[in-house]
Formats: sequence, C-alpha cells, structure tokens
Amino acid sequence: VTETLTVAQTSDEAGDAVERFDAIVIGAGVSGLYQVYCLREAGLSVRCFDEAGGIGGVWYWNRYPGCAFDGPSELYGYTFSKELQQEWDWKDYYSRQPDTEEYVNFVADKFDLRRHVQLNTRVTAATWHEEGHYWEVELESGERARASFLVGALGAVALAFTPPYPGAESFKGQQFHTGRWPREDPDFTGKRVAVIGTGSTGMQVIPEVAKLCGHLTVFQRTPGYGIPADNAPVDPEVQREWKESLYEAIRKEWREASPDPETGNDPRSGHDARPQMRDHRDGHDVPKEERLVLYEEAWQRRGTAKFVTLFSNLISDRELNAEYAEFVRGKIRGRVDDPALAEKLMPTIPFGAKRVPLEEGYYEAFNRDNVTLVDVRETPVERVTETGIVTSEGEHEVDIIIYATGYDTVTGGYMDIPFRGVDGLTLKEKWQEQPFSTFLGLTSASFPNFFICSPVAVCIHTPCVEWICEWAAELIVYMRERGLTRMEPTQEAEDAWGRHHDDVATRVNSGEGDEYSIFLGKNIPGKKTRRYSYAQTGPVWRARAYAVAEKGYEGFVFDADPSAPLGSSKPIPILSETATDSG
Ligand SMILES: Cc1cc2nc3c(=O)[nH]c(=O)nc-3n(C[C@H](O)[C@H](O)[C@H](O)COP(=O)(O)OP(=O)(O)OC[C@H]3O[C@@H](n4cnc5c(N)ncnc54)[C@H](O)[C@@H]3O)c2cc1C
Repeated sequence: VTETLTVAQTSDEAGDAVERFDAIVIGAGVSGLYQVYCLREAGLSVRCFDEAGGIGGVWYWNRYPGCAFDGPSELYGYTFSKELQQEWDWKDYYSRQPDTEEYVNFVADKFDLRRHVQLNTRVTAATWHEEGHYWEVELESGERARASFLVGALGAVALAFTPPYPGAESFKGQQFHTGRWPREDPDFTGKRVAVIGTGSTGMQVIPEVAKLCGHLTVFQRTPGYGIPADNAPVDPEVQREWKESLYEAIRKEWREASPDPETGNDPRSGHDARPQMRDHRDGHDVPKEERLVLYEEAWQRRGTAKFVTLFSNLISDRELNAEYAEFVRGKIRGRVDDPALAEKLMPTIPFGAKRVPLEEGYYEAFNRDNVTLVDVRETPVERVTETGIVTSEGEHEVDIIIYATGYDTVTGGYMDIPFRGVDGLTLKEKWQEQPFSTFLGLTSASFPNFFICSPVAVCIHTPCVEWICEWAAELIVYMRERGLTRMEPTQEAEDAWGRHHDDVATRVNSGEGDEYSIFLGKNIPGKKTRRYSYAQTGPVWRARAYAVAEKGYEGFVFDADPSAPLGSSKPIPILSETATDSG
C-alpha cells in the first residue's frame, strides 16, 4: 500500500486550526471501512469517524446473546480480495456476532485501515461550504474537521428505535436496546427480565436470555415466521470447498451478471445469490401433493435454504404464499407444548411480509416454566413504572427491560444529525417533504460532494457494499482527473430515479403485509410511507449506475472553484477484475 495520507491543517475564520482531509467517512461498519479502503487506494487522505468504541458497526453494537447472521456466512464476506477469502475461516454457517466482529477487525488489520479511523467520536453536524467547496463536520467534542467529500456510511439498521413509553425514564432497573447492547454482559442470574419485540432480534435473544434469567416475560405484538437456523460449526470439508470453488463462482457470477437495467430481468434474484440452488419453476406448474413434499424436503435444509430454494413465486404469489405459510404454522404447532399458547404465537401475516427471522430454539423457549407470553394486541403496554411494565391488564414487575424493537431504517441516522447542504437546507427538511429523495440511492440534490453509502438503500446483497463504495470512489477520481471540485445530481435526474425506484417497488410488492414492513417505515410513528430500500438486485443497480458513469456521469452537474484544494488521485487498482488477478 502506498502511503498517501497527508493531513493538511487549515484554519477557520477565527484562526483556529482545523484538520483538512480529502474525504471524511462517517461510520466504521463494513461499508465505511471499505469506502476508506477505496479512497485510500485512490490516493486520497481520508478520516473515518465512528461514535462506537470499536469498529464493525452493527457487529460492534449488537452483542446481545444469540446475535447471528440471518444470511449464510459464505455469502457475507468481502469479495474484493481473494487472499482475504482464503485466509478467513467462518466458524458457523450463520456467523455469530463475536466471530463477525472478529472478521471486521481482521479485515481492518489486514488492510491497515485502523489508522484512518477515529473511534468514540460522534459526528453531531455537517455543513456544506459553497466557497471553497468543502464539508465541515462538527464532533461531539466540539472539534471540527473539513473535507472535500463526505460519505455517510451510517448504516441502514443502525439507529435503534425504542417506543416512547410514558414513564420509561423512571424505571429503576436496567434497560437497553439490543442494538446498543452494553460492552459488559448484564448479569441475568435470578433476574426478572422483559423482552419487548419478537422480530428477527427478539427471536434470537429470547431463547438465550430464557436460559440465563430467573423469569422472562415476552411482549409480542405481531407474531412472525421463525425458521430454524440449524446453525452449526462449518464442516472443514465445506470450508475447503468454499475456498476452492464457491467464492470464485460467486465472484464471477456477481461481477459478470448483466441484467437488463430497464426490465431488471435478472436470474440472480433472491436472498441467496446462488441461482443453482433455486427452483425456477412457477409453483403452480407443480401438483399440490408434490409441492408439499418439496416443502418437507426443503425443511431439512439449513436456515434460509428452507424457503429460498423453493419456487421463485413462493412469496409473491398469494395462493402459494398462503399454502407455505400454513405449512410453517404446522411446524410451529409441533414445537409448542401448550396448544393455546401455540395459537398466540401463530403468525397470520403473509410469509415474508416481515423479514423472516432465523432462530435457534425460539418456540421451545415457551415450553419452559420460566417464560410467559404477553400478547400486546390483547393487552397493550400503557406505560413503564419504576418497577415494571403496565399493560391494560396490570403490572409486570421486572428488573431488566430489553427493547428488541428494531430500527428507524435507512434514513434514520441521516435525519438524526443535521446535514446542511446548499443554502443551509438540511437533509431532514428535504426528506420530510420528499422521503428518501436521491439519485441512484447514493447522492441527493442540494447536497454536493456527499454520498449516502448504505447497502439496502441502494441494493440488496453484500457485494453491493463494494459496488457502492467503488462507484463513489471512481466518481471522485473522475473529478480529480478533470480538476473538478463540486458535483451534485440534478433535480430532474433525482426525480427520474425516484419514479424508477417507486416503479420497481410497486412491481415487487403485492401490497399485502405492507403495514408490517420496516422498509416502508411502518414501525416508526409519523414516518412517511415509501419503500426505503431499492427493490432490485445488486446487478441491476450496478448496471444503471455504470450506465450513468459511461455517459460522463449523466445526471450530475460539475463545477470547479479555483480556491478549493484540488488534491491528487490515481486510478483505483483494487477494483473489479484486478482484484481477481492480484488477490
Ligand atoms: C442483528 C443483525 C443481523 C444482520 N444479519 C445480516 C446478514 O446475515 N446478512 C446481511 O447481509 N446483513 C445483515 N445485517 C445487516 C447489516 O446491517 C449489514 O450487513 C452491514 O453490517 C451494514 O454495515 P454498514 O457499515 O452499512 O452499517 P453499520 O454496520 O450500521 O455501521 C454504521 C456505523 O455508523 C456509526 N454512526 C452512525 N451515526 C454516527 C454519527 N452521527 N457519528 C459517528 N458515527 C456514527 C455507527 O456507530 C455504526 O458503527 C444484519 C443486521 C443486524 C442488526
């Protein structure tokens, strides 16, 4: 790695010294770290700020017992370095939080990224300066820093959401959100614990805490379809096969995928990137008896393979969805001893309407003597007191409250701090009017030289992190090669993207179960409804983004301010196929 990190000192209007970088990245999760890597490789000086005490983003914060992937480990890691893929061994088929946190730290050390990252540093505001074309960020400490480019890698599921229960501040016991779990594990021994929420996180934490505590009360609103993860240590033979062939096959598949950017026609759709694992038939072409046999066969497979390997229209077709939902309900009934309790746990929403949680012993936890279920649809939570949680039925006294109540997805972090763009307009003000209005999910008019770098905001699947960061870095290199110091998408380009974004959302979304979707913002009181994630696969986003680049970044306007430091850059050697050759 060529060292090109040159931090300049500049001074503000009052003459105080302010550090100046080519780029500032906010967030040191998997996205922010890769953005740092790309920009550093492009020859830019770059500083990354994260309020966390360690790197890893969600894998630093979500350290609750039971936290694990809900997608297969072998599809999660970065693909840009063959060497990295060969060196890293995943411990479990669905990597558990400690291992994933270790992975991100391993990457940071291997690529010498740590020295660019300043931890325990919350960014409290960021302001665009038209004169000189730069962003100034304000830190919680009162310090400031400046940069020509600003990347928000704040995460799509990073801003923890806690329902505003009256009286919560008066609670005398411990209370925390799963997404802000304390560094030191709480002592649950003999304690009365409440878990509020039974989504993906709730289903992971509940069986683990049940084993550790005196008594557990679970507050459930909308039952989901828990799918057994069947998690286990990775067989060394399987690990070898991943390294010998699977990683290369996935890399080739994803990098070479060339879907039609207009129709989005792309065989590589779905949660699992391996098309060979899917049954591409229309479920209706298969007789019902055979379908039921196939559901049973798939149920023997691990985790998400229980449903992603089934028909491509399993979730989108109303009839097939209802049939499969009933099949899963049958499995749940078989796991809960008390039939009346089983019915309370029974999901009635369409399968897949909410993210499908992977669990390990969730339903069996309710067979324990120390676990009680409170159905808040029947007895809503009214308030929190000094000693517990009051529902319409009475008080549940507890020592610890765990909020497994999810996130203000995609836009939450960006609305939480003032990003002030042209003429002082904040992103919050803009998005309150036009929710998540962007061009390519990545840039926004009135916010020059600013990138929103969050995987689901742009596209689904892990390699998206790499594509987004590479694309942003390439745009910066393009500007520097031409002496340009300001870029901003046009409103027309943004509006056209918005129409496309909504159009694909309508196409993939039957509308059923919408009221439960966190990606429609339904879990946050007052949040405007829009699909906040781009409802297309990664390769479709990439095809569209590179079509823009190939036309000289059509949809962007550029400018140059002679007083702005230009900085140098170089072509980025790590990207795409080069990485395949050199590792
Ligand atoms: C429990 C759980 C399981 C998941 N499982 C999977 C899975 O199996 N497969 C999958 O693909 N994805 C999974 N995800 C999604 C996961 O979020 C992404 O895979 C990925 O880790 C996101 O990385 P990121 O860098 O974009 O954001 P994050 O990891 O969220 O990082 C954002 C960072 O920004 C920092 N930050 C935010 N605001 C500020 C500020 N104002 N100042 C300073 N720092 C700030 C935060 O501290 C955080 O460290 C899971 C998420 C969770 C919560």
